Amino acid sequence: MTIPIFVPHLGCPHRCVFCNQWETSSVRTPPDAGFVRTKILAHLGIRAPSIEHVEAAFFGGSFTAIDMDLQRDLLCAAYDFVREGALRGIRVSTRPDCIDGARLALLRDYGVRTVEIGAQSFDDRVLSEAGRGHCARDIARASAAVKGLGFGLVIQLMPGLPGGDRAEALRSAEEAAACGPNAVRIYPTVVLERTRLADLWREGRYAPLMLDEAVELTADMRELFAERGITVIRSGLHPLSPGEEASVLAGPYHPAFGFLVKARLKRRSMERAIEGALGTSRNAPGSLLLRIPRRGKEEYIGHRSENLDYLRRRFPEIRIAHAFADFDRMEIVIENST
Ligand code: SF4
Repeated sequence: MTIPIFVPHLGCPHRCVFCNQWETSSVRTPPDAGFVRTKILAHLGIRAPSIEHVEAAFFGGSFTAIDMDLQRDLLCAAYDFVREGALRGIRVSTRPDCIDGARLALLRDYGVRTVEIGAQSFDDRVLSEAGRGHCARDIARASAAVKGLGFGLVIQLMPGLPGGDRAEALRSAEEAAACGPNAVRIYPTVVLERTRLADLWREGRYAPLMLDEAVELTADMRELFAERGITVIRSGLHPLSPGEEASVLAGPYHPAFGFLVKARLKRRSMERAIEGALGTSRNAPGSLLLRIPRRGKEEYIGHRSENLDYLRRRFPEIRIAHAFADFDRMEIVIENST
C-alpha cells in the first residue's frame, strides 16, 4: 500500500509540455508537515494494513528540487511514522537532473527507500520537444547515483510524446532496462487541459496515440521488461475522478488501462499457445478447448469477451470453446481432430 502525498509542481524548474499535476491530482495547495501527518494518519486509520507493505510516497513534483528546508520538513513528518514502526519507508519522485550526492544523502537520512525518476524518454529530441530540460545522459547518470547509494530505483516512461513513435518508445524501454531499475511505470501520453500539449493538439500539431495503439505499445514494452526480469508496477494513469477526467482532452486515457494491457498480454499468450498446439498436432484441427484459470479469468477473456472474439477471427478454421478451471496456467485441449 502506498500513501500518496501530492506535491504538485513543487520544485519543478518549469512546466513540461504535457504536465498539469493540479488537474490529475486535484490538489491545489502544496502540502506542509501538518498535512503530511494528517494524510498518513488518515490512511493508516482506514486500512490498518501490515507495516510490511506501507510506504508514504511524494508524487507529482520534483521532490529533490524542493527548497531543502521544506524537503526536510516534509520528510521529517513522514519519517516519524517510519521510526515509530507504522511505515516501512518513504518513496519520492523527481527529475533526473535534480539528483546529486547531497540530495540523495538527505533522502537516506530520512528513511527514503525508493527514488522514482521521471525519465519519460531516452531520446534527446523527444525530451527537447517535451520541454524537459535534460537529456538522456542525465537519466543514466541519475539512475547510477540512485542505485549506487542502495535506493530502490523506479523509472517512469511516457510513450506517445511529441516527436516520439513506436520505435523510439521501444528504444527508450531498452535503455531504461539497461539502467537496471527495480521497477518501471508506463504512462502513455494524454492531452491535459491547460498544457502546452493541449495548444499543440488544438493547432493540429500533435496527435496522441489511439487507445488500441497505446495498449499494443504498452504491452510490447511490458514484454520487453518481463524478458529482463523487470516489474512494471503501473500502466496508464490512475483512475481519475469525473472532475479530473474532464481535463483529459484527448489521448489513450482509460480508467482500466492497466487491465486492458494485461488482457492484451493474455491474448498474445493464448494466440501463441494455440499456434504452438496446432503446430505440433499431427491431425487437421477440428476444435479446441481453452481451459482458462478461474483466477484472473477476466484478463483471459478480455473486455466484453474481445480476446475470445479475436481468437475466433484469428483461427476461423477451428471451433474454439472455453471452460474455467482451477489451474494456475491456461491449458489447451485439442478435440475432435480428424
Ligand atoms: S513532468 Fe515532472 S518536472 Fe515536468 S512539470 Fe511535471 S512534475 Fe514537473
